[in-house]
Amino acid sequence: MVKIGVLGLQGAVREHVKAFEACGAEVTVVKRPEQLEELDGLVLPGGESTTMRRLIDKYEFLEPLRNFASQGKPMFGTCAGLILLAKNIVGYDEAHLAVMDMTVERNAFGRQRESFEAKLMITGVAEDFVGVFIRAPYVVEVGEEVDVLSKHNGRIVAARQGQFLACAFHPELTDDYRFAQYFVNMVKESK
Ligand code: GLN
Repeated sequence: MVKIGVLGLQGAVREHVKAFEACGAEVTVVKRPEQLEELDGLVLPGGESTTMRRLIDKYEFLEPLRNFASQGKPMFGTCAGLILLAKNIVGYDEAHLAVMDMTVERNAFGRQRESFEAKLMITGVAEDFVGVFIRAPYVVEVGEEVDVLSKHNGRIVAARQGQFLACAFHPELTDDYRFAQYFVNMVKESK
């Protein structure tokens, strides 16, 4: 059984727990950096990236999270979590974990489209996945090592770089666990 943690500082934590349990993983809500040591993979949930970053600093998570990444362990960032993984954020001088070679823009779909659903084709996952977007970012640009897994209206909304998986939408807010299962498979393969 793979052990997956969900960073539990803020955001859509419980929904991820439910989704990954449904995929047969043993799931832990991570509130202290020491908990990372026992895990095979980690999910950075959606929420508010600036708030999450504040809590990451407050609870001294930044270095332990970067260590986790440098051990080659899989990480999955959804929405705000995608922003945490990115190397560059449009309009900001500093990124957060800065482990995934991509530039992201926050709240990038504009006011009228604060939240919406869209049917997505996701390479290796599904041809008809309903993406729930909530004040979502999108990926403006990716480096050579990054595979684009999905686009919506020409904008990149899911990507993978080896051990890192990221999406701009909230897969945990539907009962379709195929994207969660894709990450579980990544974790199994990395073990
Ligand atoms: N707009 C949020 C941010 O910039 C992300 C929204 C989300 O995670 N649903 O962090």
